Amino acid sequence: MIEYDTLNKIALDIKNCKLCFLCSTRKKTVPGEGGFLKKLMIIGEAPGYHEDQSGRPFIGAAGKILRNALSKNDIMLEDVFITNIIKCRPPNNRAPYINEKKICMQYLERQIFLLQPKIICLLGNVVSSYLLDIKSITNERGRILQKNDLKYFITFHPAATIYNRNLLNIFEQDIKKLAQYISPNYY
Ligand code: URA
Repeated sequence: MIEYDTLNKIALDIKNCKLCFLCSTRKKTVPGEGGFLKKLMIIGEAPGYHEDQSGRPFIGAAGKILRNALSKNDIMLEDVFITNIIKCRPPNNRAPYINEKKICMQYLERQIFLLQPKIICLLGNVVSSYLLDIKSITNERGRILQKNDLKYFITFHPAATIYNRNLLNIFEQDIKKLAQYISPNYY
């Protein structure tokens, strides 16, 4: 019998994952959440404290900014799958190590393969440099980039906008543009 991959199966594999050190410090795994009506995927770096406690991505201060910008543009949770490269919180929110990213990529790759997103939105420098080898997002953000048959859209990480009104404005404009790209009228 052929066994098809599903989001639940991936989430279960993540829950049982012991492939790196982060399994010993996490409280909960954070596989990602959302629906997929608008075929949009949003990828952040790694769960923080609140995400680790709850098992849900982007529910702290940065998450509030992201979810607020999405809902202002009529992108609801059932429209978008939100996840991170790393599915477990690094202790004290340190940056994930390269081996942790490499090991964890298998789950993100399965999620992308399964969902076949129309656009993948990358949040911030760390994610953009790891996935697309982009050195600085300043020149690359706010437009569609194509790589290996996938379309990407880069913007700032919402955490970077918390104390910077200017970046917050740009971030919100980017999310507005992203909403246009995923609208059924856009080709
Ligand atoms: N920052 C991230 O990159 N991901 C989260 O889930 C929360 C904060």
